[in-house]
Amino acid sequence: MSDLNTAMAAKYRANFLKEVEAVVEEGETVKMCMQCGVCAGSCPLGKHWAHPPQEIFMMIRAGKRDEVLKSDSMWMCTSCYNCIVRCPRGVQITHVMHGLAYYAKRLGVVPEGQPTQQVSQLFWDNLMKGGRVNELKLGLSIYFKDGFGDGIKNAMANQKLGMNMMKAGRMSPMEFLSGHTIKDNAGFQKIIKKAQEIEDAKFDGAAK
Ligand code: SF4
Ligand code: SF4
Repeated sequence: MSDLNTAMAAKYRANFLKEVEAVVEEGETVKMCMQCGVCAGSCPLGKHWAHPPQEIFMMIRAGKRDEVLKSDSMWMCTSCYNCIVRCPRGVQITHVMHGLAYYAKRLGVVPEGQPTQQVSQLFWDNLMKGGRVNELKLGLSIYFKDGFGDGIKNAMANQKLGMNMMKAGRMSPMEFLSGHTIKDNAGFQKIIKKAQEIEDAKFDGAAK
């Protein structure tokens, strides 16, 4: 268990709802859920989740901390916002799903090999190098994330897509060698560093 996970589990023992309210984006709206099931019925992929949104909210209130945070479910949210526009109680479902996923990542409890988490991390690492996404390197890092053999298969399967992106000017082979950065990459890095300090302070404060 990570230090943060140990500290948070100890501090909010038996009150997972309070923990969610303290650290998860829009977590304070979870208590408004009346279990009508509209979000679960509206979610285009919800039936494939181990725990659709309505169930996640019920589990939070029931104190099922480990089951929620170690779940794969919130990583499946595609941000379509169907649920938020239909929820009669104004629960910020989409944001809570992403907030729970982010919190699980900070705690180090995401299921191993969770693909959305892997792609998010690759996207972030790519973006952070130059302040912009290098589509070619991002595409390759996703194709090859499970090894060389799978990478070749993925690249072959998607070569038409890659060619079309190059024709449309959305991707250049030259990006593999260099790749340009935004004009003020140093300024961008400072902004991100500051934002990370604020986030770290928020979690450190919540754990005390
Ligand atoms: S639609 Fe809103 S109130 Fe109904 S179950 Fe989902 S979150 Fe709860
Ligand atoms: S925003 Fe996420 S949780 Fe809401 S309906 Fe879409 S996929 Fe489901």
